Amino acid sequence: SAPPLGSSVIPIVNKLQDIFAQLGSQSTIELPQVAVVGSQSSGKSSVLEALVGRDFLPRGNEICTRRPLVLQLLQTKKKGDGTGEEEWGEFLHLPGKRFYDFSELRSEIQAETAKEAGGNKGVSDKQIRLKIFSPNVLDITLVDLPGITKVPVGDQPSDIEARIRTMIMSYIKKPSCLILAVTAANSDLANSDALQIAGNADPDGYRTIGIVTKLDIMDRGTDARNLLLGKVIPLRLGYVGVVNRSQEDIMLNRSIKDALAAEEKFFRSRPVYNGLADRCGVPQLAKKLNQILVQHIKAILPGLKSRISSALVSVAKEHASYGEITESRAGQGTLILNILSKYSEAFSSMVEGRNEEMSRS
Ligand code: GDP
Ligand code: MG
Repeated sequence: SAPPLGSSVIPIVNKLQDIFAQLGSQSTIELPQVAVVGSQSSGKSSVLEALVGRDFLPRGNEICTRRPLVLQLLQTKKKGDGTGEEEWGEFLHLPGKRFYDFSELRSEIQAETAKEAGGNKGVSDKQIRLKIFSPNVLDITLVDLPGITKVPVGDQPSDIEARIRTMIMSYIKKPSCLILAVTAANSDLANSDALQIAGNADPDGYRTIGIVTKLDIMDRGTDARNLLLGKVIPLRLGYVGVVNRSQEDIMLNRSIKDALAAEEKFFRSRPVYNGLADRCGVPQLAKKLNQILVQHIKAILPGLKSRISSALVSVAKEHASYGEITESRAGQGTLILNILSKYSEAFSSMVEGRNEEMSRS
């Protein structure tokens, strides 16, 4: 099954955050937000759900995501006695109410969507904010956005397309936002709304990952090999192809676990995707995201180090002015700097190791 998003960086991030906590400082490692963009029904919500590994988002063949959903994953600590395994969700608009049943999260998202955006396909830019607490996630924020539509339906205003584009841009224009640009394989990639809007926000492609969904329902005789290889529209960070649950699977309540197994079987049984293993499947997407997060942490470590050393210098000065002994504090600081240096090196070799791995395959 898919590794929980960011799981391979959890131990390292945890360790660093523990150290900061001991020093009395707030967590200083802020991970980038990840937002999904694309046309309506391209499979954005399905991709996010698969990454989180839980069923809780409204999905379907009509417009389902009608308000931005800001999904904050928060890691809880398992207790020594083996408890602390439970996972729950909590909405900003319902403070203190814990949802342990994830299907109730979906109903609440739908009810809250209707409250703000009405019952007839209306769209609102007012966020729904949901926190998911779990011992198996990395502290990261994912954003599910309404898809781009062209023709107004229901209560949608005549300028619906422009409004949705503005809403999407307000999230993805931030330089710290990773963009998952989702295009269905049975549509025309050259006219992809996802790649077009991602290209506006991130023209150099440093933070855009291309995702191609619905590989299972392409026209007979066609495949996505050249697409995934970047031969149709090149993308710096490349593409990952996925197979999510179909509308029928949703109606039959097929589990994520079964869907991942089916996805794996799909790729294994199609010779055309042989040799593209690193570009196929949700687990590969999770892996790719992890690598980007590791790169990100690696890039901010030197800044963290200098912030810590200057904080230590000022603490030491303050203590000296009171004539206090600062040995223990200074000792702690040196220890932290050493650990940070060690982590920087570990990160470098980890990342370089992986790059080698990739260029060899
Ligand atoms: P969104 O509007 O982009 O968030 O798309 P959803 O995730 O709500 O999916 C829209 C519809 O497409 C749903 O009926 C999904 O079951 C279906 N769907 C999404 N991804 C795939 C896929 O990879 N294969 C198939 N067969 N159906 C998919
Ligand atoms: Mg959606």
